[in-house]
Amino acid sequence: MPNHIFGRSTKGALPTAVAGDGCYLIDASGKRYLDGSGGAAVSCLGHSNAAVRAALHAQLDQVAFAHTGFFTSEPAEQLADTLVAAAPEGIERVYLVSGGSEAVEASLKLARQYFLEIGQPQRHRVIARRQSYHGNTLGALATGGNEWRRAQFAPMLVETSHISPCYEYRERAEGESLEAYGLRAADELEAEIQRLGPESVMAFVAEPVVGATAGAVPAVPGYLKRIREICDRHGVLLILDEVMCGMGRTGYLFACQEDGVSPDMITIAKGLGAGYQPIGALLVQGKIYDAIAAGSGFFQHGHTYMGHAMAAAAANAVLGEIQSRDLLMRVRAQGEKLDAALRAELGQNPHVGDIRGRGLFRGVELVESRETKAPFDPARKLNARIKAEAFAAGLICYPMGGTIDGQRGDHVLLAPPFIIEDAQIDELVGKLSGAIRVALA
Ligand code: PMP
Repeated sequence: MPNHIFGRSTKGALPTAVAGDGCYLIDASGKRYLDGSGGAAVSCLGHSNAAVRAALHAQLDQVAFAHTGFFTSEPAEQLADTLVAAAPEGIERVYLVSGGSEAVEASLKLARQYFLEIGQPQRHRVIARRQSYHGNTLGALATGGNEWRRAQFAPMLVETSHISPCYEYRERAEGESLEAYGLRAADELEAEIQRLGPESVMAFVAEPVVGATAGAVPAVPGYLKRIREICDRHGVLLILDEVMCGMGRTGYLFACQEDGVSPDMITIAKGLGAGYQPIGALLVQGKIYDAIAAGSGFFQHGHTYMGHAMAAAAANAVLGEIQSRDLLMRVRAQGEKLDAALRAELGQNPHVGDIRGRGLFRGVELVESRETKAPFDPARKLNARIKAEAFAAGLICYPMGGTIDGQRGDHVLLAPPFIIEDAQIDELVGKLSGAIRVALA
């Protein structure tokens, strides 16, 4: 096979995916892989979903692309209506883009423009959290908490500082209640705003459940409510990045709905197109849109493919499936089963430090010692070995090395399709456990 594609790694050829069948992907040799991570929390409906395929065929027969500088389209309008109706209180407008980084980038620029238009030009600083990922474009990269990802591109264009990611397993003190820890983690935001000067801070950005960088670490009860209060007190915008944890992944269409919090903006992507089309969205509170409408009337941003009719048609079909097949309930039920199976299989393993998550968004953190929570030596490349062993056994999972910053262990992220059956949960956990055993040996 010709090999001219320039991917992320220049080492080694990858198998060619030729077909999808529910929770499985199939390569050119006929080997089947159970998609235990939905790629990276993307394929929420599994592969080859009939309703999405039918919707895409139908849309292709009507119109695929009409530039948003000239036209709107039925699927894009319908998608925005559905999202606004389902979103937390106050969300009134939707800005459609093609992926997660684009959504985060748009949120940062919209926040900046909002403060310019309401006469607060000094607000430009962003506060985010350590161990977070918000995308790879320059603004999103500046926002993410991974020092090592940013290092070679410094200095960044957006001035960002980072506080606690609300990481109970690593940060809760002996004897401290979950609630007390949540408030303590949130109060780091207050301290950081004071340090920077409240009038200079534009936005706080966070994932309600931290995805790839920490392995499904959920906000503890009360944390996001306290964050909301602090943002309100200082006029700082709260941007929740639900690119990974949104679109039903946690058992709620928006993860923050479980926390009872309404942010100023929400970013979504991945599960919105479920892998069938590249699409992302920025959901925006009415007051932000209204300020721009009353001011310049023009958001200084835009992408050629925004509001693409095919992408919107796919997203409408995805949301239709989630609703008509009651998949949020299913995510909660199957998520409990996955959690129980992980605990039964791995709970006694002396190197499994933590099993956590919400819905079908779960993480397993591996440590050298349970007592000290010391991470493994990065030279062991444990995560790469788990990934390779699992893949050889026909399981796609999403391990990440955490030891680079010395602040967390290696972890495996699991985000299977919402349609996962009980027997497939057993297959997933069995293969993962085997891969961990071999990698640790
Ligand atoms: N935000 C979060 C929370 C993500 O997990 C990701 C992707 N892993 C992004 C933003 C960036 O999305 P994309 O890769 O679609 O640009």
